Amino acid sequence: LAERFDAQVTGLTVSAEQPAKKYAEALDLSVRFYDANRCGKDVAKDNAFAWRGDCHTDDGKDVGLDLTGGFHDAGDHVKFGLTQGYTASVLAWSYYEFPESFRKSGSEARMLSTLRRFSDYFMKCAQKPGVFYYQVGDGGSDHTYWGSPEKQPGPRQTMRFADAKHPASDIPGETAAALAINSMIFRGKDAAYADKCLKTAKDLYVMAKATRGMGDESPFYKSSSYLDDLSWGAVWLHIATKDKSYLNDVESFFAQAVSEKINPFMSRATVSWDDVYVGVILKMADITKEKKYIDAIGTNLDFWMNQIKKTPGGLRYFEQWGVLRYAASSSLIAILYSKYADREKYVAYARSQIDYILGNNPQKMSYLIGFGSSYPKDPHHRASVCARYTGGRSDKDCELLGALVGGPDEDDYYEDNMDMYQFSEVAIDYSAGLVGALAGLAGIPEK
Ligand code: ZN
Ligand code: CA
Repeated sequence: LAERFDAQVTGLTVSAEQPAKKYAEALDLSVRFYDANRCGKDVAKDNAFAWRGDCHTDDGKDVGLDLTGGFHDAGDHVKFGLTQGYTASVLAWSYYEFPESFRKSGSEARMLSTLRRFSDYFMKCAQKPGVFYYQVGDGGSDHTYWGSPEKQPGPRQTMRFADAKHPASDIPGETAAALAINSMIFRGKDAAYADKCLKTAKDLYVMAKATRGMGDESPFYKSSSYLDDLSWGAVWLHIATKDKSYLNDVESFFAQAVSEKINPFMSRATVSWDDVYVGVILKMADITKEKKYIDAIGTNLDFWMNQIKKTPGGLRYFEQWGVLRYAASSSLIAILYSKYADREKYVAYARSQIDYILGNNPQKMSYLIGFGSSYPKDPHHRASVCARYTGGRSDKDCELLGALVGGPDEDDYYEDNMDMYQFSEVAIDYSAGLVGALAGLAGIPEK
């Protein structure tokens, strides 16, 4: 059925005859979304959305610090450490692997500004030695407010932090990865800034490794394991410093995981805020060229390509919440792995999932807002809803361009309704893998 369906609708997506150009257009759009979720000061500066302005400018005052900045999580306004650390690390990874795609699609300046905004914020959260503040805003009260971030009554509470007595190895682990990658990205542009990113990355990693345990952003986010996040921090610190001790750390974290019956080499998950093992393994393959790492990615992708549940339209269906983010992340993994294997096969798989997202699906609708002729009009996102329905603007002016919605159900059905947020919510972590996959595909020459 999936094959017959593909044959029917191929050619319906916008500029489908020029794949690399199509992906570059989608990449430029998807990078814009992050402007809509900016928090703090200077929000309006070069923002893709005229309706965004400063918000939550008192963040951190309750603990005597300036914790303004960063990004709202999703359709709400809380700043969560787990999703920001994950998102920043995957966006930076994407730029690190495919800088030319960002350059050629015209999205480089916006991407760099987003990466810098994440890093600036993380360094504020780490400004007090031995402490890392990771959740600002109370999810419970935030979710009772349906209005724009600019008008949200404050102040907000600095909810959670890590220190020697309050472990959170997962969140500083991911954050260390993001800062280590950014230290390399900004090295040639601003060496002092790169040094500061790297120093903070090292400090956070030391802290996360010394005081072991899971951070807690429940009931919204709670990790299953922190060993993957510590490994993610370690592998990127190795790449940034060439220090071999970080590679030994990765091996010992993996050994500990195996002893706890979570074998990273058999992982079926793709990269997400809860699990970044497959990303670690890919970088370990790049660094060591060892067969055990290369084969582990092959095993993971065999699951995604051949064994996982598929919708009738061919979408890989990992779980009902944010189904498209997982398919997009798996596509990024396939593109990066393709250098070790049958390149055509893995690139074709990535294209099948990304093309589904961009409109090659039974709804004949793109799930990337603004791409193609049919896409969601009613995403679950407070900041843009207020702009869509107030101030005399037309809907068109206030579209949440570039956002990836959660996606369809297991029957390829999508409900374009902001109240049905399992379909229509958007999130910083949803879009991260998509940005990477689009950058990868935009860089692959057409036949
Ligand atoms: Zn804000
Ligand atoms: Ca984890």
